[in-house]
Amino acid sequence: MSLPIRLCVEDSIARITFDLPGEKVNKLSRAVMERLGEVLDELEGRTDIRGAVLDSAKAGVFNAGADVNEIGSVTDGEAAAVAVRAGQALMNRIEGLPFPVVAAIGGVCLGGGTEIALACDARVGSDHPRFQLGLPEVNLGILPVWGGATRLPRLIGLPKALDFILRGRPVDAKRAERLGILDRAVSHGELEKRSLELLHALIEGERPRRRKLPLRERLLSGNPLGRALLFSQARKRVLGQTKGHYPAPLAILDVLRRGQASKKRSFELEVEHAKKLLPGAVSKNLVHLFFLNEDAKKDPGMTDDSVEPKPVASAALLGAGTMGGGIARIVASRDIPVRLKDISPEALGAGLSAARSIFERRMRRKRMTRWELERKMALITTTLDFSGFKNADVVIEAIVEDMEIKKSVFRELEPMVSESCLIASNTSTLSVSDMQSVLERPERMAGFHFFNPVDRMPLIEVIRGEKTDDRTTASLVALAKKLGKTPVVVKDGPGFLVNRILGPYLNEAGHLFEECGDIAAIDRAFVAFGMPMGPLRLLDEIGLDVADKAGKVLSAAFGDRAAPSKVVSKLVAEGRLGKKAGRGLYRYDGKKESPDETVLTIVGVDRGPARPAEDCVERGLGLMIAEAARCLDEGIVRSPGELDLAMVMGTGFPPFRGGLLRYADHYGVARVVDDLAKWSGQLGSRFDPPPSLRDRKTFYRQKM
Ligand code: NAD
Repeated sequence: MSLPIRLCVEDSIARITFDLPGEKVNKLSRAVMERLGEVLDELEGRTDIRGAVLDSAKAGVFNAGADVNEIGSVTDGEAAAVAVRAGQALMNRIEGLPFPVVAAIGGVCLGGGTEIALACDARVGSDHPRFQLGLPEVNLGILPVWGGATRLPRLIGLPKALDFILRGRPVDAKRAERLGILDRAVSHGELEKRSLELLHALIEGERPRRRKLPLRERLLSGNPLGRALLFSQARKRVLGQTKGHYPAPLAILDVLRRGQASKKRSFELEVEHAKKLLPGAVSKNLVHLFFLNEDAKKDPGMTDDSVEPKPVASAALLGAGTMGGGIARIVASRDIPVRLKDISPEALGAGLSAARSIFERRMRRKRMTRWELERKMALITTTLDFSGFKNADVVIEAIVEDMEIKKSVFRELEPMVSESCLIASNTSTLSVSDMQSVLERPERMAGFHFFNPVDRMPLIEVIRGEKTDDRTTASLVALAKKLGKTPVVVKDGPGFLVNRILGPYLNEAGHLFEECGDIAAIDRAFVAFGMPMGPLRLLDEIGLDVADKAGKVLSAAFGDRAAPSKVVSKLVAEGRLGKKAGRGLYRYDGKKESPDETVLTIVGVDRGPARPAEDCVERGLGLMIAEAARCLDEGIVRSPGELDLAMVMGTGFPPFRGGLLRYADHYGVARVVDDLAKWSGQLGSRFDPPPSLRDRKTFYRQKM
């Protein structure tokens, strides 16, 4: 049987090659780590070796790190400590080999893979398109514990190491070289040659060149006062971003701060934190989301995976407004030419500038060059008629949210496109099946619902209308992935999935306001739960006019259960449209925002005692869970996992909770039912739990 790590020695140079049999990527499972131990046994026992290169036989992959299944299965702190110490010991043995070792990194190098590379004497990385080097552990609620959090600050200095580990975002070879993690970034074809050159230089006694820290970083990390400042600023930033919900970033800060004493101390601190974090609920929830995301990447969007998606090589867009401009940019960013049509030349100009300004932001962050920016912008061409539409493989409609206008535009559009062109609507509330009724070939049409802002929100709901066929669904799912988004396939229905579940939550915030008149206290309760912003602040962000329209659609469909509180409509009648208008429930003054007390008068509410935070959360979350249960009953979404992924990706539902239904399982479905029944008794039938919720023990099959 072939081994996951091969060792071959030629001319006194050892070559240690990762090549996990039967897999596309190298992972560091327990079995692979055992094999690494055997390889080290052999290397340590030989006297004929002068140096070693550590590389991989997989195209575009060096080592993707620890097996996330194994990370997810840790339930016991002591067992975690044993495994972590064993990993550290292996890394220390690599570091302690009596000859130089160079890591030749020709692709994905993450987590444990990077920690192995850090234990080597030097590292060479290539410009392979899949190359990425990172320590993304923080995204799984843990920290690098095989010496990564110890070795990196010693290699590149505290400030850069802190930033690198806290962000958890991988970098390309050039950036890794600038940071000082790689000794060299070379062209992929030369990786082997240049790694051997470097190895021979080290054998000859040359010491790896290390970058000198810039003055500011030396000042910050070179003396106790500077370091104290560095850590207190970082802690403030972390707490500001995580609101204390994520323990891993604080653990990282602790290891880097107290671990400065010695490497030994730093390793101990890695173990100490691993013991708590690995079996902890936050890590388990983040691992759960990691797997939901992985499943979504592989999911063709339907049970029949034999359907071939139609490749999209060119696109057209209707409407260059808020959404159209953003969609055009994202399509062009994937090298797909896009024809952007509007009825107003001004809108076309504004759409182009919106797209350009997002590209420019990326350029300022050094994610693209000016040349690339101009090349991508040249892919977006504008038109006031349908010229060029015959070449499009897909048309995405993003015009005003009005059924009659949309229908008339679809009637006009269909003869202007090819027979096989896909038609997608970005509608956020209107019935896709109703829109299909005006098309000659309705099976080629579906909803394709982006979230605002398009460049930041990762979700797309692919909405199957009554007549949408499998090929259209599969093609739009594939297109969403090509655009770097996470697609979730949903059935047509009022509010589709995300807005339908968000609706009762936002509406309940309105009811809470009518009861107590305390905007800040209501929002604080939900932020403390972990929401990225409170529901009243979110209403301002969405736009109160938009929320009003969506609320009407939901109440028309669901009657009393979704009867809107009067807050939104009263503010809209006063022209208070939310953040875009400078005033909504909050008042916006430059970067400052504060709850607007005049809302009390407009809505006709008296200020009373604030509702307890637990009551707010019980009501808001309880209603969301009830609606989610109905969506599953009606087949709006296929599984609890997809629902959870959609809520996290589409609304920023707190990832550390693992998703809405994972939270419900954790809290207890029976308890949710009891809460709802209690509120129904006090406040009315909108809280009546759906019968299926009473029958459920959990949403997910396996017990958590
Ligand atoms: P918008 O008002 O900013 O832009 C609409 C654009 O469509 C305008 O530039 C208008 O000139 C143009 N237009 C109108 N009729 C047209 C026609 N016949 N042909 C070509 N262009 C035409 O609207 P928006 O916020 O970008 O929303 C567009 C769609 O996206 C709506 O269906 C909306 O529900 C949906 N949506 C909006 C958001 C959001 O937060 N804004 C989020 C998700 C989905």
